[in-house]
Amino acid sequence: MKILSVNAGSSSLKFQLYKMPEEKVLISGLMERIGMDNSFYTIKINGEKIKKEANLENHEKAFEVLVDELKSNNVIDSLNDIKAIGHRIVQGGDYFDKSVIIDDDVLSKIEELSALAPLHNPAAVTGIKAAKEVFPNAILTAVFDTAFHQTIPEENYLYALPYNWYTDYKVRKYGAHGTSHKFVSQRMNEILKRTDTKLITCHIGNGASISAVVNGKCVNTSMGLTPNAGLIMGTRCGDIDASIIPYIMQKTNMDTKQIDNAINKESGLLAISRKSSDSRDIEDGIKNGDKNCILAQKMYVRRIVDYIAKYYVEMNGCDAICFTAGIGENSADTRRDVIKELNVLGIYLDEDANNVRGKERLISTKDSKVQCYIIPTDEELMIARDTLELIK
Ligand code: ADP
Repeated sequence: MKILSVNAGSSSLKFQLYKMPEEKVLISGLMERIGMDNSFYTIKINGEKIKKEANLENHEKAFEVLVDELKSNNVIDSLNDIKAIGHRIVQGGDYFDKSVIIDDDVLSKIEELSALAPLHNPAAVTGIKAAKEVFPNAILTAVFDTAFHQTIPEENYLYALPYNWYTDYKVRKYGAHGTSHKFVSQRMNEILKRTDTKLITCHIGNGASISAVVNGKCVNTSMGLTPNAGLIMGTRCGDIDASIIPYIMQKTNMDTKQIDNAINKESGLLAISRKSSDSRDIEDGIKNGDKNCILAQKMYVRRIVDYIAKYYVEMNGCDAICFTAGIGENSADTRRDVIKELNVLGIYLDEDANNVRGKERLISTKDSKVQCYIIPTDEELMIARDTLELIK
């Protein structure tokens, strides 16, 4: 059976076609600059990457071009070969605690939740509507980044703010990257060969979050109402004193859009390093003795360690700490700097094992009280798995 996993952005469409249940990727790709001049797409098939220009005037057109590619590459004979399409949805609010088949009610709820994810949910709705047009016989599913976090208890998802902000405006912690935290924690349990585990999953990419997972259920996560909270990220500030916002707005006359832009796009590693949001550039800077990069990395690591320590205490111990996403999988330096700070808890790094990129591996020493692993994430596969479960 063939299942398509898609992630629609406002001007992009990322896709992966799976043969299920074998979990074999048949073809994958990315369509970019949809609705703009000079739109193009890249596809990856049989290890080969091909880039093509095409007039992708909207998401429907992008799906049509995708179908042509699938046919011309002989991965499908007809549209009906694709039984289901799983859509990544950033915000599911408190409506969705698991993946669901999309009907009119689900679609209108995703639309309604756009207020909480203004950049992402409207794009996903566009993608769903386009998929519906182009694949009238396929079952469409929604896989939410927030669903895995719906098991977080009240004391962890509420903010100590006026209570009606929660009841009237739904202000609470929703978290993000849930699909990745779920994938990584499931894989970790497979490796440990048990499900009664306490895990700390660190999804550290350009966006970054840490979750505490007990017996396969998320009990806390570092992102909040929006993905701005928690860790220091590439360009997001993470946790700050909330009063900074009105203070700076008064001082500079910034409006809400400008301040939102500042805390999401001009902060984080970029702001402190005064150089780049990309951890590779920060690592180069550190090698060249750049003081700002050294400081940025120190702050970045400190915050990760703060959350690991917090969740270690909150769960009353921990069986494994998992590192995933761009930095978690690839930056040996960041993993080393983090684990060094955890020595006080009896957690120790195996330096040789850590010297690797993007491979599933145990990186802690034999005598480490908590095992540390690199677990490459695969959100697209998680979407395909959930979709398969739903249509069974
Ligand atoms: P997102 O999905 O949030 O855009 P990713 O998970 O792709 O982010 O992670 C992007 C981050 O991963 C960037 O900061 C990049 O520098 C970092 N990264 C990727 N490869 C490496 C590497 N080899 N060494 C260090 N950092 C890396």
